[in-house]
Amino acid sequence: MKEVLYKSTRSNLEPVSASVAILKGLTEDGGLFVPDHIPALDKSLGELAAMDYREVAYEVMKLYLTDFTEEELKGCIAKAYDGKFDSEAIVPMAEAEGAYFLELFHGATIAFKDMALSILPHLLTTSARKNQIRNEIVILTATSGDTGKAALAGFAEVEGTRIVVFYPKDGVSPIQEKQMVTQKGDNTFVVGIRGNFDDAQTGVKKIFSDRELAARMDAGGFQLSSANSINIGRLVPQIVYYVYAYTRLLAEGKIQEGQRINVVVPTGNFGNILAAYYARNMGLPIGRLICASNDNKVLYDFFRTGVYDRNREFVLTSSPSMDILISSNLERLIYRIAGDDPEQNARLMAALGGQGRYEITGQMRELLQDFYGGYATEEETAAAIRRIYEACGYVIDTHTAVAASVYGKYMEETGDRTPTVIASTASPFKFTRSVMNAIDHKYDSMTDFELVDELSRIANVTVPAAIEEIRNAPVLHDNICEVDEMPDLVKKFLNLQ
Ligand SMILES: *Cc1c(COP(=O)(O)O)cnc(C)c1O
Repeated sequence: MKEVLYKSTRSNLEPVSASVAILKGLTEDGGLFVPDHIPALDKSLGELAAMDYREVAYEVMKLYLTDFTEEELKGCIAKAYDGKFDSEAIVPMAEAEGAYFLELFHGATIAFKDMALSILPHLLTTSARKNQIRNEIVILTATSGDTGKAALAGFAEVEGTRIVVFYPKDGVSPIQEKQMVTQKGDNTFVVGIRGNFDDAQTGVKKIFSDRELAARMDAGGFQLSSANSINIGRLVPQIVYYVYAYTRLLAEGKIQEGQRINVVVPTGNFGNILAAYYARNMGLPIGRLICASNDNKVLYDFFRTGVYDRNREFVLTSSPSMDILISSNLERLIYRIAGDDPEQNARLMAALGGQGRYEITGQMRELLQDFYGGYATEEETAAAIRRIYEACGYVIDTHTAVAASVYGKYMEETGDRTPTVIASTASPFKFTRSVMNAIDHKYDSMTDFELVDELSRIANVTVPAAIEEIRNAPVLHDNICEVDEMPDLVKKFLNLQ
């Protein structure tokens, strides 16, 4: 098997092994790690169809994490995809209105981030061991809601790690916030910032490039790492479920081997859909990659015009995990359509950093033909929830509803009837108020937990354990800070002052 090394999207730095890329998170020049080639699947789709989730995970991940031994990788997979998931299948699929909803929300925090964040701590501690790292690993994360809790749940009490999560104080749902501030574990630290998600993300990036702080931390026996979706250790596990979804449809006789499927992905940071793009480049028969945005439709505009422009008003929507104006993972796609040219990519990213916009060339645009960008307004999102509930009794969350709505528009526009998988990224129990409100305004006056019980009743689904747990849990974190105080809070948590 050919080794995969990871290089930077911004300059010709020496490529590193997968374990080093996982440990570093970001490259030293501020770019992202990308595989030096995309490996092809080395098992047939028919063979993969006979495997369970863990086995498929191994077959996909071994192709990227080539410096992990079989024992190491299988160990990580076994620790991640176990009883923490409330479904034997790990990611079950539901059929509604002729589309297949790939339910990525059966993990510890009932959102798709669990798919990657339940395995990342194990990939990281394995990587540290492989590289003779003695420092404790400090995970630093900015979250628009779901990443935070999923990372906390993944890392809490994992030996040799600590985790600090920054979230926009007024930019997450009440249930998301409660999930985070009730997090147990001496190695966890949660802080609300006065700003939006992009402010939190920019603040975290700044801490990562702070050499003085890095030296202080090293002297104290710590080193930083990232659990954000830019870490290659997040991206690789996300490729797995697209392969798995395809092979389930094959096993169930819904498609023939080799037949194309489309995928629709509700998108924010562009991590999830990028994983689908990688799966396609590995040989998985995916036709269209449908990128669904909410009112923060930077990506829709980008796919339509070739101009990425973040200079616009930031809109708070009912799908907060997609309220993003800088989709970090898009850089990996830009790099690829620039012909793996770090200089051209670095120029575009510098323009994004400076003027807040860039325009790709016509040649690059031609390489985006497999993507279709769409968006759904708040009304359209609510209408999709109501329509699917009324038609099939199936309740989807607001993020998934953005995707379902965009899929409807796509079909209307193109007439394309290719079998389609919609990435269902959160349980409706995570965004209960918006979901119930979409179904009927009469629910407006209920409390959050009354809504939970009502949703359970009308959808005929048991309340997930993740929600039951926080009903009466005490608040354990009440830190709030300004963006420029973020480095000080990190020092405080690590006793470095
Ligand atoms: C994070 C998240 C998204 C967006 O995924 P990206 O990989 O950032 O594009 C969509 N839906 C939910 C529920 C999420 O948590």
